[in-house]
Amino acid sequence: MDATEFRRRGKEMVDLIADYLENIEQRPVYPNVEPGYLRSLIPQEAPEEPDTYEDVVKDIERVIMPGVTHWHSPYFYAYFPTASSFPAMLADMLSGAIGCIGFSWAASPACTELETVMMDWLGKMLKLPEEFIAGTHGQGGGVIQGTASEATLVALLAARSRTVRIILANDPQRPETDITSKLVAYASDQAHCSVERAGMIGGVRMKKIPTKQSNKYAVHGETFLKMIQEDKAAGLIPFYVRTEHTTFFERTKHTHPILRTEHTPSILCNAEQIWMHIDAAYAGSSFICPEFRPLLNGIEFADSFNFNPHKWLLVNFDCSTMWVRDRSDLIGAFKMDPLYLKHDHQESGLITDYRHWQIPLGRRFRSLKMWFVFRMYGLKGLQDYIRKGSNEMNEVLLKRINNGKKIHLVPCQLSGQFVLRFAICARTTESRHVREAWRIISQLAEEVMQELPH
Ligand SMILES: *Cc1c(COP(=O)(O)O)cnc(C)c1O
Repeated sequence: MDATEFRRRGKEMVDLIADYLENIEQRPVYPNVEPGYLRSLIPQEAPEEPDTYEDVVKDIERVIMPGVTHWHSPYFYAYFPTASSFPAMLADMLSGAIGCIGFSWAASPACTELETVMMDWLGKMLKLPEEFIAGTHGQGGGVIQGTASEATLVALLAARSRTVRIILANDPQRPETDITSKLVAYASDQAHCSVERAGMIGGVRMKKIPTKQSNKYAVHGETFLKMIQEDKAAGLIPFYVRTEHTTFFERTKHTHPILRTEHTPSILCNAEQIWMHIDAAYAGSSFICPEFRPLLNGIEFADSFNFNPHKWLLVNFDCSTMWVRDRSDLIGAFKMDPLYLKHDHQESGLITDYRHWQIPLGRRFRSLKMWFVFRMYGLKGLQDYIRKGSNEMNEVLLKRINNGKKIHLVPCQLSGQFVLRFAICARTTESRHVREAWRIISQLAEEVMQELPH
């Protein structure tokens, strides 16, 4: 295929993609095939002589589509959302065309520099603490990992190496293997399975913190403190905890002096030099809206944080964004500098070699997807996407409710959101009245949603 044919085929492929996405709801969301269905549809060997492009394209409908679960069908409600937007797809084409491998700054300066700046843009959208923003001279900063599982593992490995370093500084004679064999990591018993895998791959003990005392599935500060104390008494070394934001920041007050604050488990981590990694893979995107940002309170105690814009922020897979408070913790864990990767600027302190921040050496130019999406939606557009409903719709709904004169409500403003308040006021109100009110609100909301674009 030469460039002339590529121009033609490329335009055809864009049409095929647009047709696929425009008509996706007509396809059955879940495929009707048995395991092994595909092998019988194509030859057992790669072709000796080239096939034509037409033959390849024809086989998309014959071979591939029957076995596709359509994640972007409006009838798909499984697992979690995975992002899809046209700007991100266009950026991905460009990334494929540039096709650089950005393991060092010199290997493609734009690939590294755009990533650092996009991670700062996104970090500022989330109002992350200043320490996580790279700027020009920051100690922290962000990196794009492939998945949240990788971020969890990278954080665990960085924590392991930091802990070993701290202990050896005080006790240089202690064998490193003795330290690593005593390490213990923690996660809530509600945690995503990726954390258990990180423990297996990282070769450390992983303990589950029971959440049953709490009716919010939150980690109880006292439970966690007790586990840490027992483990230390048994000669173990607590070094890492990985948490999903909502399960960790409980707001109950406690009796132990160290626990008498809002963010008890987090403060405990800082006091015990336990690395705290926050994985908000799914929910993280919502923190760009001021009304959801309080869910991330406590981030100021974290050593690292990640979420997946490829879930809910319109950046197609893969794009899992991870920030660290102190980049030297990561670089200290993974640094390798063979001669063929050295370059003139690496000692200047001004540049980032992202291979030190991740497990693979090679990396794609993924920040282009963020750049296209952030610019073409703007923060406002992204917030609207998360909210999927407008203040205008709520205003219209309230007007309809009050015009109906059957029930009466007043609104309020909450962080820029028009909110309908429902207060139960009269001495004589019973649940049947509340149910009737809810019926009226639901019916009018249904009408408004049918009429207004959202
Ligand atoms: C989806 C999800 C994961 C797994 O994400 P990957 O990026 O596929 O590894 C991990 N943690 C949480 C909280 C998630 O929601």
